[in-house]
Amino acid sequence: MNIAAARQHSGRHDIAALASNENPHGCSPRVAAALANLDPSRYCDPACTTLRAALSQKLGISVDRIVAGNGSEEMIAAVCRAVLRPGAVVGTVCPGFGLHEIEALANGAKVEKVAMRADLDFDIPAILAMLERAPAIFFLSSPSNPVGPALDRASLQRVLAAVGPQTLLVLDEAYFEFTNGDMPDGLATLSATNLSWVVLRTFSKAYGLAGLRVGYAVLSDPRLARAVTAAKTPFNVNVAAQVAAVAALEDETWMSSSVNALKLERARVADKVAAMGLSAARSQTNFLFIDVGRDSQAAMEHFLTRGIIVKPWKEKGYGTFIRVTIGTPTENDRFLDALRAFAKG
Ligand SMILES: *Cc1c(COP(=O)(O)O)cnc(C)c1O
Repeated sequence: MNIAAARQHSGRHDIAALASNENPHGCSPRVAAALANLDPSRYCDPACTTLRAALSQKLGISVDRIVAGNGSEEMIAAVCRAVLRPGAVVGTVCPGFGLHEIEALANGAKVEKVAMRADLDFDIPAILAMLERAPAIFFLSSPSNPVGPALDRASLQRVLAAVGPQTLLVLDEAYFEFTNGDMPDGLATLSATNLSWVVLRTFSKAYGLAGLRVGYAVLSDPRLARAVTAAKTPFNVNVAAQVAAVAALEDETWMSSSVNALKLERARVADKVAAMGLSAARSQTNFLFIDVGRDSQAAMEHFLTRGIIVKPWKEKGYGTFIRVTIGTPTENDRFLDALRAFAKG
């Protein structure tokens, strides 16, 4: 459901769009300034030279191991195309990020899923058992979308120790910037191993550039990066997205202050949800996964009539969960009021 459809549906103008984990603060003002000067008549740089150089500098990773994508979603597709052969086994976690499964299936793989524990944290022994079976790819979103927790240092080390030479570990860190300080940096941790791995990050969430479509993959070796580059279209990241991402990286101060404000709101909203007697998973992201105790579709409609868009979960076993993005304090208060009314009704 987008904002225009929600306006039509609810008859309200002031929509709180809390279903897609976008940044309610927008993006750095430097992005708008950079976009004012671009020339749309020229093709974009297929190698994303300036952006990859800026990422290389920020991350301390050589440019030949960084591939920019039309959103990190495109990198999920490109990794699958580059690596999978029909009949390959791909492992992932459930509930998880849909495209990890969809792109694997689209490339002829069989997908096997490890369930999260009942207390909504990662089931490490089950993940280790899955890795024992040597899947061609293991997709792990940590922090988890839609649930929210991230692997702590000890758990990440246990997972890495179980990844064998046949398996490419794809660690999707779309919400990396929202993790608390005691959580590991997956990229730094994987860099210290000899495994085959990909780390995915994006400008869509913390940097507020979801509509421009730009993300990236960092890969364990240049050969793998070349294979993923060959599996994408040449002009995949448009001129505006390249310029905007570079400008966003030049203003990390804007990003951190936005993220810090959202983390404070995350704690505040989580406390209020708990005070209503509802359970939400611990979150290292910009959203909460909440058990509303009744059908999630009914909850979605309840919020929509109040001009609030949330994401109802439909996977088996999670049909009473919604995922709600942390918005501005005003949006969050509207959400909390509507949730209180739903819980009572
Ligand atoms: C949002 C999200 C992405 C996709 O981000 P884009 O860069 O906008 O394509 C990838 N993985 C996860 C887990 C996400 O939540």
